[in-house]
Amino acid sequence: MKQIFVNLLPPLTVAAVLLFWANIPKAWLNAWWLLLVVIFVVLGIVQLLEYFAERHEGWRLNKREFFTDVFYVAFGATAISWLNTTLAETPIVAAKEALGIDTPWITGLPFLVQVAMVIVIFELGQYWMHRLMHNSRWLWGAHAPHHHVTQLNAMKGYVGNPIELFLISLGVIALFDWDKAALFAGISVGSTVAIYAHANVRANPPIWYSFIFTTIRHHSLHHTALSFEDTRCNYGNALILLDRIFGTYREGESSVVGQGERKRLSVPEQWVFPFQPWIDQTKKKRAQSTSPSN
Ligand SMILES: [Zn+2]
Ligand SMILES: [Zn+2]
Repeated sequence: MKQIFVNLLPPLTVAAVLLFWANIPKAWLNAWWLLLVVIFVVLGIVQLLEYFAERHEGWRLNKREFFTDVFYVAFGATAISWLNTTLAETPIVAAKEALGIDTPWITGLPFLVQVAMVIVIFELGQYWMHRLMHNSRWLWGAHAPHHHVTQLNAMKGYVGNPIELFLISLGVIALFDWDKAALFAGISVGSTVAIYAHANVRANPPIWYSFIFTTIRHHSLHHTALSFEDTRCNYGNALILLDRIFGTYREGESSVVGQGERKRLSVPEQWVFPFQPWIDQTKKKRAQSTSPSN
């Protein structure tokens, strides 16, 4: 595939997603699942692209990686989404009504302005939550399984410990009133950028795109296996611009990703990871109390 075309694929996909939401019949917007369909279609296309425009041979998807990734995509679309709606979105909407927060003026703004607002508000939350996860020992325990992946692929953004997946899904978008098409477009664009930022696709988008949006170059450096300290940069999920503003931007790329000994974690290992220090400590204590004293 011609490199110049591959480089343009991330901005072209973002443009296609924007055009789709800007032009669909209003009645279609009542089907919330359409948002899921759009994200899944993008995910499927980018995952397929890995076969036609591979970035690193070492990241090539095998059966084990594929089924683990598919499991996490399904888990995110069902359990994590339900948890987010129940524990975050519903209480936020109730608080919005109780406090009388009303922002009808937002729906009167141009479509692209609203899309940009959705992305910026959501990404600000993502950026600080992600940065906090690299600064708090307990939160790092929840986020670390995402960094223990030893290769990057389109679906890898969905892989992690459930506590982290829930925390990173939080946002205050529900506090505001949006034109539904703009809201769905903002969420889809953010997801599209984040999918490309984890994908094993040799796309190096134009400077204007990589100045604003996170690319695989930026995000692979965030996943570097070099050391934990070296991962503390390029936190932006979709907006690398936030790293440039808040001073955490670093230039470069990493083809070797992972943490510690670069041991790939199984799903059960990913789920118990935050509790592993306590499990080890309890086991040690039990072993000490049962060992014969002399
Ligand atoms: Zn991280
Ligand atoms: Zn990642």
